[in-house]
Amino acid sequence: MAALTRVSGSVGLISLLNPPVNALSAAVRQGIVDTVRRAVSDPQVKSVVICGQNGVFCGGADIKEFGGHMSGPPLVPIFNTIEAADKPVVAAIEGSALGGGLELALACHYRITQSKARLGLPEVSLGLLPAAGGTQRLPRLIGVPAALDLITTGRHLTGAEALKLGIVDQVTDQNTVEAAVKFALSIVGQSLESRRISTLPCPCPADIDAFFEGVMQRVKKSAHGAIAPVACVQAVQAAATLPFTQGMQREQELMATLFGSGQARALQYCFFSQRVVSKWSSPSGSRWDTSKPKPVTKVGVIGLGTMGRGITVALALAGLSVVAVETQQQQMMAAQHAVSGMLERTARRRGVSLVGDQIRYSVELEAVADVELVIEAVFEDMALKEKLFKQLSTLCKADTLLCSNTSSLDIDHLASQTHSPQLVVGMHFFAPAHVMKLLEVVYGPRSAPQAVATAMELGKRMGKVSVAVGNCSGFVGNRMLMPYVEEASFLVEEGASPEIVDRALEEFGFPMGVFRMSDLSGLDVGWKVRKARGLVEPGQMSRVRQGRRYSPLGDLLCEQGRFGQKTGRGWYLYDSAGSREAQPDPWLQSFLEEYRARQGLVSRRIDSQEVLERCLYALINEGFNILQEGIAAGPEDIDMIYVFGYGFPRHRGGPMFYASQVGLAQVLQRLEHYQQLHPDIPHLRPSSLLRRLVSSGSPRIQRWREIIRMPHSSL
Ligand code: NAD
Repeated sequence: MAALTRVSGSVGLISLLNPPVNALSAAVRQGIVDTVRRAVSDPQVKSVVICGQNGVFCGGADIKEFGGHMSGPPLVPIFNTIEAADKPVVAAIEGSALGGGLELALACHYRITQSKARLGLPEVSLGLLPAAGGTQRLPRLIGVPAALDLITTGRHLTGAEALKLGIVDQVTDQNTVEAAVKFALSIVGQSLESRRISTLPCPCPADIDAFFEGVMQRVKKSAHGAIAPVACVQAVQAAATLPFTQGMQREQELMATLFGSGQARALQYCFFSQRVVSKWSSPSGSRWDTSKPKPVTKVGVIGLGTMGRGITVALALAGLSVVAVETQQQQMMAAQHAVSGMLERTARRRGVSLVGDQIRYSVELEAVADVELVIEAVFEDMALKEKLFKQLSTLCKADTLLCSNTSSLDIDHLASQTHSPQLVVGMHFFAPAHVMKLLEVVYGPRSAPQAVATAMELGKRMGKVSVAVGNCSGFVGNRMLMPYVEEASFLVEEGASPEIVDRALEEFGFPMGVFRMSDLSGLDVGWKVRKARGLVEPGQMSRVRQGRRYSPLGDLLCEQGRFGQKTGRGWYLYDSAGSREAQPDPWLQSFLEEYRARQGLVSRRIDSQEVLERCLYALINEGFNILQEGIAAGPEDIDMIYVFGYGFPRHRGGPMFYASQVGLAQVLQRLEHYQQLHPDIPHLRPSSLLRRLVSSGSPRIQRWREIIRMPHSSL
């Protein structure tokens, strides 16, 4: 797992070997202990280089070891031994030095890196902190502000950026190990006093208390309740204010708190779930490992509104050729201008270079005749989409995949308009499509496995978390959103204010509550959907529609022209149309009082517990229905959709993981309680899958798939 060889006469070369990323498993740690001891005691070895085999230095801790009992030597003493060695030790960083990998490099006396290598301390994204001295050595090396930035965000740096910050001593475009060996030969005999980072003073800003107070406020605000970023600040504060040994103790204490927390479990679940969802399967038996994607180089995008523009940018950034079609000349010119700006800004931010002339614009649908895949993003209007799919099916090549970005319309119905329904799938992006990570790939009963595989692969090329889901109204994300949003409106009818509901949800960790979010996306969007479903009765206040409880509040606000931020008024009041600063609206308050009086509703006090339980358990309950129906293959699919598409706090793992942490019996009991109080709300009726899981002893979330597949009678 780590090998020592002597090269160039006197350099001890230690190579880590644990493919694919040389993770610091127990065996690798033992290997480092043994090889370092031998190199240090071998009189023929005058200096040491540590590298990783296969072009990767070290990807950090072995996350597979997190769940179980830790065995093998711990990292901290290993790194202390390396730093204390009286022979110079040089880290040769190729590929990546992440987490424990970078901490290993920081324990070495010198660091030489490949310019393209990625360096970082991403532990915070797993709900942890760099606990092998990373929070204590990095600030001593590069100063408190820069270290805080890297440790609290977990962001990665290139070798070149790391050089600028002073993390590494040399960057090379040549063979890194050879450069490190040459360097190691040149420094034999030099004093190592100033190279042992733990002995250095920590460069600090002038008013350190005020500095950390400001940082803490900022970090808490952006953490939305996540505890790891806060603990990272506390650990760096220890580096700035305490001697190294005491700082290390503080790092260990903080790590112990994080390690046992539900948040770390949730974040690690998310880490694994991201991989689980890429291994998709459908009830018809098609699977990721038996379905080969079709090669795609040229894609057509139809409709260059909000979504079409973002999709075009995402495709171009992924290196695909795009044919972008828009019927209206003026809209086309505006789109062309907007797309170039978005493309340039995003490419600059990501440091990628663009190939010129990748996008061809046209007002003729025939321009997509030779593409391999089309993504339709015209208005959400079934008649328009039907017509378009018929046209596309005739003018495109026989094997062209036809995809729709519809938010909720029936994919199978669209497929039925074409000559080859097996080539139709949904590719449901989220706004802004070049930024948001989620892609729902919607397969209908007739979609070919290759069509699903191709859409999933294309999503991957665009850097999306792609989740394959079945076809139903709203698919997974928007279908679950319905009961969540409805419950929020019911709570307002019963006595809550939009502020009370939003505050509870934001304290839970959502970046925005239901009402601030509706104001941002536009109240008219939902109004249009409800109209299409025949739910809207203009001017009517009736609270029962289609045989179930209905809140006409959103419709009544739209009838008043209150569409949210864009009109300066919605659930909140804004300084002007387009402004983002939401203020409570006294008009709304009197409107609600009058509304309740006319409905004969007696306003009551609603606390945050009720807000959370009714909104979240309604959402979760729909998730169980979706699992039961096979629309999502497993809880991980739902959770990744909610974390990457709907702002569900990642440190809570997603709605289904959250339910498992609350306890399924508790969720069931509270749903039963609310259902008794509100029998006219069908989405509070507990899902039969939830009941089955509770009666089978509330198994771990990783076992739910088994229970879902089990015939009911065997329980
Ligand atoms: P939009 O109104 O911003 O844009 C639609 C565009 O399609 C317009 O530019 C229009 O001129 C163009 N268009 C209409 N008919 C056309 C035709 N026959 N050929 C070519 N272009 C045509 O709409 P949007 O918000 O981008 O939504 C597009 C689709 O994406 C809808 O199905 C919507 O449900 C879905 N969607 C929207 C969002 C969102 O947040 N806006 C999110 C996910 C999915």
